[in-house]
Order: sequence, then structure tokens, then C-alpha cells
Amino acid sequence: KLRKEETLRRGLHNTIQELKGNIRVFCRVRPLMGDEADGATVLPITLPDCEEKNQIELTQASENALGRTTSKSFPFKFDRVFGSSSTQDLVFEEVSQLIQSALDGYPVCIFAYGQTGSGKTHTMQGPDSISAQDMDGGASLGIIPRAVKQIYETTSRLAERGWEYTLEGQFLEIYNESIQDLLVAPVARSDKQPGGDKQPGGDKQPGGDKQAKLELYQTSEGHTRVKNATTVSVDSPERVHWLLARAAENRTVAATNCNERSSRSHSVFTLYLRGRNSLTGEASSGVLNLIDLAGSERLSSSGSSGDRLKETQAINKSLACLGDVIAALAKGSRHIPYRNSKLTHLLQESLGAGNSKTLMFVCVNPSPASAQESLCSLQFATKVNSCQIGTARRQAGSS
Ligand code: ADP
Ligand code: MG
Repeated sequence: KLRKEETLRRGLHNTIQELKGNIRVFCRVRPLMGDEADGATVLPITLPDCEEKNQIELTQASENALGRTTSKSFPFKFDRVFGSSSTQDLVFEEVSQLIQSALDGYPVCIFAYGQTGSGKTHTMQGPDSISAQDMDGGASLGIIPRAVKQIYETTSRLAERGWEYTLEGQFLEIYNESIQDLLVAPVARSDKQPGGDKQPGGDKQPGGDKQAKLELYQTSEGHTRVKNATTVSVDSPERVHWLLARAAENRTVAATNCNERSSRSHSVFTLYLRGRNSLTGEASSGVLNLIDLAGSERLSSSGSSGDRLKETQAINKSLACLGDVIAALAKGSRHIPYRNSKLTHLLQESLGAGNSKTLMFVCVNPSPASAQESLCSLQFATKVNSCQIGTARRQAGSS
């Protein structure tokens, strides 16, 4: 009887998911901070009936040829819009179904997209340093620790019904189109420079090139995996805390400036969830990818040179490629350009499978100074939001 209920529950749950479509876009506006709004008479971002309508409106003021100020409004609608007072609790409530899907055997990707300082890391991970006690229910925790907690709670409940899960985690970073392992300490930088201000020419490297580069390969079963990536068994919340701390530490070691570095690289936390039911013989295999993308800001390439220019180009290319892959999947194209960037190649299976589920958070900084970048982010997110992968993909078959 229990099993019947379970099957029914899962079936129902997944039907709900499918009806909603398998790509969803949530928008989250972070609070204004410090003096960000000083001197502004109007703010560019408004959320008219945000809770009911899930709308966000961006207003741009500009001066016309006659010197008169005119304003233009751009309304956007998403599956969910979270205003600046939304809590981590509330946001996770809307995500937890998707975490359940990974346990049920679906490939799941959750992305955070937006300019540097828009709240991506806050949403995905939470505060910079999470203490071990915080791991157990701190209100500021982001999606990664909450997801893991939910997975433990659920798997221990499912254990009573014969399910046994193995959880394995990886934490990778993609910087300048090369994949690096955040669970391995980078080799000490030989050209170590004292910290200091950014050099306009960008001759300072944010580090990482002394870290071993990892390559992608295809397993005999056709899975895309990363050669020699550290895979740790994630068997307790303490272990996740260890893993997050280790990643943060290695990132700092590799960087001359940690924030600078993290804003120019994508970080990908992956959990492989394999379940077997010893009573029924059923098995499931899901993947949960939690991705903190590089800052989407368009650094003007004219003002950049050297390493900085290379970074900018790598980021623009990989974010554009992510959009292209999603669009090609939605159209059911024969050729999906996964291999145009390391990020999409790495996530190929999770993004491409007909049963995959993708959620993108577009994070928005509401300050007047960020209006132009916010507009770009919202436009990108709208493009993603217009895509639905599942049905077209199934019709086109896999390529
Ligand atoms: P990003 O990762 O996009 O560069 P962060 O997540 O680091 O941005 O956020 C920038 C700053 O704003 C951080 O100090 C962070 O703590 C704060 N912040 C972001 N989102 C929120 C939020 N929803 N509530 C409170 N503070 C936030
Ligand atoms: Mg960040």
C-alpha cells in the first residue's frame, strides 16, 4: 500500500512539473544597499502586484533632443518574481519541488544569472562563510545547503521504504574556458603578487592558471564526465559544509582578489543521486546541478586588453552559448551547439535530456546605476523563458 501511495505521489508530482513546462525563469530583486539610491528621484525597478502577477517593470529615463526628460517602461513577466524583501525561506519553498525531482531521477539544473553584485551567490549559496552550526537551519542559507538538507531528510524517510541512496558531489569552476576543480588546492602561484588595486591594463591575473585544467570525456555509456575531477561521497551535512568551505578556500588561494575572480568564473556544484530499492528492485539516477554563473555585465572590450579582454570574451561567449543551446533545444534543432562552450558541454546531459528540468534565476540589482545591465539581464531571461525544451526535443529525437 505504501508503495502504491509512493508511486501515486511521485506520478502526481511529476505531472504537475510537466504541466508547468520544463524551463522556468524566476526573477529575484535584491534590496538596495548603502547609498545606492542616493540622489535618485525615481527608481528604475518597480514590481506592480509582484506577488500575484509576477511582473517586474523597468523604467529608463533619458533626455530627448529638446532637453526634456522622457521615460520608457519595459514590463517583464516571469514564472515567479521575488521582491527585495523575499527571504531565503520563501525562495527555497519554490525550489524544493525541483530538488525532489532530482531524487526521483530527473536531471536538474538551477542557474543564477545576473551582473556582479546582483545576488547570485546569495541566492545559490548564502553568505560567504557559513559556519558549521549554520548548516542546520540558518535563515540566511541559500539553495545549495538547503537542497542538501532536504535531500538528507527525504532519503532517510525513503529508507524506511527500502530506498538506499548514494550521493556524490563535485564542485567545479570554469574560468577562461578551462575547467578547474574547486576541491583541490591550486598549486602555489609562482608569480604571486601582493594584493592591491586593479591595474587598468589588466596585467594582474585573477589566478587559476596554475590550477590543473580538467578535460571532459565521454564514458562508455555515453555520459559526459570530467576526467580526474574530485568526487566526494556526500554522506552528512558536515560533509557538505566541509565541501563548501574547501571550495571557498581554494578559490581564495587561487585568486589575487576573490570577488573579482568569482565574478568572472562559473561555479558548478553537482550532486549525483543514485537510488535503489532493496524491496522492489527499482532504481533511479538523478543529477542536480547548481550553477552560479559569471557576472553578465558587458565590460566594454575597447577598454580592456590582455587577460581582462580574454576573460570578457570567454564570459560573453559562454553565456551567449547557454542561451543558444536552450533556444536550439526548444526549437528541436538537429544540431545543439553544446560544444561551443565548456559550460554547455559540461551540462550537456542535464540540459539536453527530454526529461530534464531547468530553472534560471535572473538576479537584479535595483539601483539606478545598474538599470542598463538590469535591462540586458531581463531581456536575456525573457528569451530563455520563451523556450520549452521537452516536447520539441522528444519529437526531434536526440542528436
Ligand atoms: P553576485 O554573486 O551576483 O555577485 P552577491 O550574492 O555577492 O552578488 O550579492 C552582492 C551583495 O548583496 C552581497 O553583500 C550580498 O550579501 C547582498 N545581497 C544579495 N542579495 C541579497 C538579498 N536578497 N538580501 C540581502 N542581501 C543580499
Ligand atoms: Mg557571486
